[in-house]
Amino acid sequence: MDADDYLQISGIQHFSFCRRQWALIHIEQAWSENLRTVEGRLMHERAHDPFFREKRGNTIITREMPVFSNTLGVSGQCDIVEFHANPNGVALHGREGLWQPCPIEYKRGSPKVNDADRLQLCAQALCLEEMLLCPEIETAYLYYGETRRREAVALTEELRGAVRESFAEMRGYYERRYTPRVKMTKSCNACSLKDICLPRLPKATSVREYISGAMGGSE
Ligand code: SF4
Repeated sequence: MDADDYLQISGIQHFSFCRRQWALIHIEQAWSENLRTVEGRLMHERAHDPFFREKRGNTIITREMPVFSNTLGVSGQCDIVEFHANPNGVALHGREGLWQPCPIEYKRGSPKVNDADRLQLCAQALCLEEMLLCPEIETAYLYYGETRRREAVALTEELRGAVRESFAEMRGYYERRYTPRVKMTKSCNACSLKDICLPRLPKATSVREYISGAMGGSE
């Protein structure tokens, strides 16, 4: 697979929220910023201070670490990866001892009832395990801006399987350049793409098609 065709890891949270939203963003390249996405972006920019890298006791903290998985055909980056001193861990270039990675993802809001954030975090962990050939990462963390707390996430076989299944389904859509039709749910009210998606026009199957129709057939 060409690296240019790798799917973005962060897309798994869009896909989990709504498959059509994911396709609009990642296949049709449509994007719309609203208050939530702007706040989320600013929070990530603060987390992604490229000059921040430090060692605190038995922990090395890195930010904005690029990660990928050739097996899954995905790439992205981790907000933060903590490397904890661990006799079962792996060697790191320029560091003494053995270290086990632990990804931490920053989120603007509060913990969600769905698995969107946990899927993204687990995908990052799968990438780290494949890249570093380290032992399985048992637990990773989500940090929420509203609660200012870390939530521990157990990276169970069930969650790992859900990540693999989601990426396989996304890959199928991506290769067919398929955008699912509108299926209105209560999620639509909170969707950053609702003005682009036009959920009240269920026959509009793609942005391009809608615009073409609105302009009398010319794009
Ligand atoms: S408006 Fe609704 S159907 Fe359209 S992308 Fe958003 S959540 Fe999905």
